[in-house]
Amino acid sequence: AVRRGVSGERSYDRLLGGLLADGFDERSCRSRYQSVLYRRRPGRQPSAYLVSKLRQQEALQRRCGPGTEAYSHALEQLRSGKTGGAAAASQDCKYLVSISYRGLGNRILAAASAFLYSVLTDRVLLVDPSNEMGELFCEPFPGTTWLLPPGFPLSSYTNFSISTAESYGNMLRNKVIRTDASAGPAGAGDVPAFAYVHLDHDATEQDNLFFCDEDQRVLGSIPWLVMRTDSYFVPGLFLDTGFREELARMFPEPDAAFHHVVRYLFHPNNHVWGLVTRYHDAYLAGAAHRVGIQVRVFGAQPNSPELLEQITRCTQKEGLLPELLVPAAGEDGDGDGDPVVAAAGPTRKTKAVLVTSLKSWYYERLKGMYWERAAATGEAVGVHQPSHEEFQRFGARSHDAKALAEMHLLSLTDALVTTAWSTFGYVAQGLGGLRPWVMYRPENDTHVPDPPCGRDVSMDPCFHAPPFYDCRLKRGADSGKIAPQVRHCIDMSWGLKIV
Ligand code: GDP
Repeated sequence: AVRRGVSGERSYDRLLGGLLADGFDERSCRSRYQSVLYRRRPGRQPSAYLVSKLRQQEALQRRCGPGTEAYSHALEQLRSGKTGGAAAASQDCKYLVSISYRGLGNRILAAASAFLYSVLTDRVLLVDPSNEMGELFCEPFPGTTWLLPPGFPLSSYTNFSISTAESYGNMLRNKVIRTDASAGPAGAGDVPAFAYVHLDHDATEQDNLFFCDEDQRVLGSIPWLVMRTDSYFVPGLFLDTGFREELARMFPEPDAAFHHVVRYLFHPNNHVWGLVTRYHDAYLAGAAHRVGIQVRVFGAQPNSPELLEQITRCTQKEGLLPELLVPAAGEDGDGDGDPVVAAAGPTRKTKAVLVTSLKSWYYERLKGMYWERAAATGEAVGVHQPSHEEFQRFGARSHDAKALAEMHLLSLTDALVTTAWSTFGYVAQGLGGLRPWVMYRPENDTHVPDPPCGRDVSMDPCFHAPPFYDCRLKRGADSGKIAPQVRHCIDMSWGLKIV
């Protein structure tokens, strides 16, 4: 947040209203306290309650995290498979290991969701460091690590899948654990040492009982949870009556849940931050207005004139990019001498358009359009694209670093256009606190959707694989109608999002 000091100069709230803890070494992670300097919009203020919950979580992470006696003890229990019963488990430290897989956007959404679930259930969050999750980001908690150390006893945890016998859904199905009253108080006595929580896109109905209150009571007694998700499942936590009140206290503005979590948790390392700041200063800083356009394409797709048309129609219709002047008879169309051009000469207003995409074709076309023809507003429109990696790659360091830098650069724009269904765009909108214009998914490749895009209902990401279940009625139901804070997404009709 930017405040004006008594002398009128801009002073910056480097801790984002208490969201960030003070006392980290600034040089080892410049982005943590510097990013506020790059934002024209201050972002939302966290509630005092959220701030206090974050400080509590940090203390828990320090007390129980890797290197502590409590951690060694918990690992010992996991190795031996003994828990000492529910009562003992509730006093000791409990853990959640979040598996990192799929694209960077998916990984960020998964870890953010796992973090919020950990805060709600007093668990220590440990993130699987594979797929660059250990390298791209600074440590978020002071005085401890959030990365799962090597030598974890469940050595094949990264292969856990829908068919893993210890998944919560499979343990329910096979009656290894029960939620009904006949099982006694939360399965006392025979609590498993760990459960695997499968919240992937292919989660079964049993797996999705995770979002029910009585299942949470059972899960709460299990010391170790290992979770796989590729989704932002926080909207699902609002469906659980046991969490809803606490979430409402933490987030009096529920649509800002991810906005706060992503800015709290994910600070790019100094290398990535260098990519962000150098690009920003060179191409974006001087512009009067900045528009971000995220064009999510897949490597094998041919360049699509329809998608280009969707981009121009959307941005011009919504007033984000100026229309182009139509050349008058006998004129070359460059706008020289045209009366509509308001401010020719070096004082004219500039608009910077930041395109991100795996391909460069869309950027080249847009750039050409605003070079060859004049903008009806008289603005000078510069179009920029930091990289074009051509194909999505996995486990490639410089590839992920560029993706992360581009998410941040998009978040620094004044208006953002995203591609439907893309978690990459969700991260950018959350970081920036931007409610984007979403380009709808075409029904087929030769069809430009009409309207081409729509203003999203909130800045929060869409949960792509939600349950369709009413826990109270114990039957299938439209989960978009259960909690007032949660409704269906505009880019994916069955998805859920917080508003
Ligand atoms: P999603 O697949 O659109 O939901 O987004 P993800 O971030 O999960 O996965 C897509 C991955 O492809 C990214 O993490 C990048 O590695 C790569 N990618 C896709 N679009 C871009 C882009 O515009 N810029 C860069 N640098 N990488 C991209």
